[in-house]
Amino acid sequence: MSLPIVAIIGRPNVGKSTIVNRLAGVQDAIVHDEPGVTRDRTYRRAFWQDREYVVVDTGGLVFDDDTEFLPMIREQAMLALAEAKAAILVVDGQAGLTTSDEAIARWLRQQTVPVVLAVNKCESPEQGLTQASEFWQLGLGEPFPVSGIHGNGTGELLDELIKYLPSAEEIEETDEIKVAIVGRPNVGKSSLLNAFVGENRSIVSPISGTTRDAIDTVVERDEKTYRLIDTAGIRRKKNVEYGAEFFGINRAFKAIRRADVVLLVIDAVDGVTEQDQKLAGRIDEEGRACVIVVNKWDAIEKDSHTIYEFEEIFKQRLSFIEWAETIFVSAQTGQRVEKILELVNVAAEEHKRRVTTAVINEVLQEAISWHSPPTTRQGKQGKIYYGTQVSSQPPAIALFVNEPKRFNDNYRRYIERQFRQQLGFKGTPLRLMWRGKK
Ligand code: GDP
Ligand code: GDP
Repeated sequence: MSLPIVAIIGRPNVGKSTIVNRLAGVQDAIVHDEPGVTRDRTYRRAFWQDREYVVVDTGGLVFDDDTEFLPMIREQAMLALAEAKAAILVVDGQAGLTTSDEAIARWLRQQTVPVVLAVNKCESPEQGLTQASEFWQLGLGEPFPVSGIHGNGTGELLDELIKYLPSAEEIEETDEIKVAIVGRPNVGKSSLLNAFVGENRSIVSPISGTTRDAIDTVVERDEKTYRLIDTAGIRRKKNVEYGAEFFGINRAFKAIRRADVVLLVIDAVDGVTEQDQKLAGRIDEEGRACVIVVNKWDAIEKDSHTIYEFEEIFKQRLSFIEWAETIFVSAQTGQRVEKILELVNVAAEEHKRRVTTAVINEVLQEAISWHSPPTTRQGKQGKIYYGTQVSSQPPAIALFVNEPKRFNDNYRRYIERQFRQQLGFKGTPLRLMWRGKK
């Protein structure tokens, strides 16, 4: 079960670790069970009312505006925030508002994560309210006076915090791998679904309240749960006539948005059409993992080269998602249908994967040593200071450079290829963000 993460942020000495200890109580520090989570930070389990979560202390955030931009300093907080469902900004009520607090708050306001403001070291409830009031200025909503040492005020703080955390049922649902089955009419989406589901192994869930565009089917295999989002399902309601040109591309788009992994189903006989390319483009745009499923393989006359020739053509015509694996199946005979789920597992894992900053920089160093960054006509050379993964699903790597303009498309593609060659990321889009010094 992946619990939501709450990041504790603030400058040094405001009482972050004291508050973490208070929230997590005597429970031991845990080793986070998400794959690839950087080990540099400690994650601790905590709960309030019916909500369970994991707190992570980001260490002291120094955020002084007159120092030169030092990306390294922000890295911890950035990484913690990227995976957090909510953040607690801790400030020191005895010291009062500082420019550092303001700088951190300004930065936090630009992030999408909800922030709860804890004014620590407020031992006396009456004084606390006065101490806390000046922190309204941070623009992060109500300041909650608390004392990490004595515990007062933390109840109100946590009541506010858990408004942003998912319930146990919601957490369970996020543990499923959501798989959208999309493709043109008649490529075999329903047949594939039936092949997965078989007779006894499925539980058909009610149509979820939020969407009537697809029918979800929950399938379990090897202790993993897959929620299959089938856009063809609706059509199975009898008497609905669809013209041949009808495609329901909007339904497909919605299904893609809800999915972790998209199965793009293509008819081996017809090959890749323009509509398939549209879907591929959307999958990439939405940052979803993907497996290309070429169906009706039984209907193709083949020799020992056919599969390679097909693969070549498919890759070319689906260049938006050249990172996706292709599998040739027959929903009718069942050939390789079960293998699709193996590829789904890989794609889902890679989609969520996190790579440590050290590894990313090793790859960068190596890449730069083979091919140094280009020099502009004015003789200015691009410099990459360092890179770090800032988020996952899909993985995004920020590259801190002197001047993004100095890196042409060729070089950018080269760096991306290096990341893929060295680190894999099979089946998922990979985003590179070129960031200047500012
Ligand atoms: P961090 O650097 O933000 O993690 O801060 P610490 O948790 O290490 O606390 C820094 C200092 O503030 C320590 O000396 C703590 O004893 C003190 N401190 C922490 N919480 C409180 C509190 O609620 N009240 C008071 N008076 N002191 C506190
Ligand atoms: P959907 O519209 O994408 O859901 O496609 P269906 O599952 O309804 O299949 C459309 C047609 O293709 C049906 O006549 C199926 O029998 C046929 N079909 C589906 N899968 C295969 C396959 O693997 N091989 C062959 N030869 N025909 C298939």
